[in-house]
Amino acid sequence: MPDISAAATLDLWQSVEALRPVDRSLALASAVDPDAADDLAEVPLGRRDSRLLELHEQLAGRSLEAVSICPSCGSEAEFSLDTPALLAGAALAAAPRPVESGSWVVEWRAPTSRDVEAAAGAGDAASAERVLLERCVLVRVGPAGELPAEVRAAVARAMSEADPLAEILADIVCPSCESAFVADVDLGGFVWAELRARAFRLLREVDALARVYGWSETEVLALSARRRAAYLELAAVPV
Ligand SMILES: [Zn+2]
Repeated sequence: MPDISAAATLDLWQSVEALRPVDRSLALASAVDPDAADDLAEVPLGRRDSRLLELHEQLAGRSLEAVSICPSCGSEAEFSLDTPALLAGAALAAAPRPVESGSWVVEWRAPTSRDVEAAAGAGDAASAERVLLERCVLVRVGPAGELPAEVRAAVARAMSEADPLAEILADIVCPSCESAFVADVDLGGFVWAELRARAFRLLREVDALARVYGWSETEVLALSARRRAAYLELAAVPV
């Protein structure tokens, strides 16, 4: 059973629907703990995503059931992730430590939602990486010029090690062609799709029960999920 009420689910869905994806993820993450003082746009991504996982648990429980498209054959591969295990990994997040590589020393900070938003607007993957590094590298000691590829890779590795939830990767074996691949789980998009599906189901239930019994939206949403299902069954209305 979800911990979030039917009325609160619809309110949340409506309040974030028109937002851009990054702002929507931030609004959803804030909804878990509206009184929290931290500005989620400015905290490491993993901290925001741990809130999104909490929202997922309130909406759908502790298992995250997702689908990815196999890059080899195009089939859908279902997989599931355990949210307590992901949250336990997130608890291992560490403070950034300078990266030493060759004759370079690079001090950096963990990327935030705003950094990722700026990087996403850069076009291709190489430009996105450059934008992210420009924003997150604080101090660099070493020869002049652009950071060499191996140093950039070392910084990227340090970033993902320090903030394990910032990028959720799932190892998947395609059920059709048996090729192995790695899926990058877009947690914000996933939780939004989940909330939206739940909201539309509730709207269909309100619509059906209002037609049959003449109840208002408030009255229908005040019923427990069990009672809504029972009345729909009595009225023989499929939703
Ligand atoms: Zn396949």
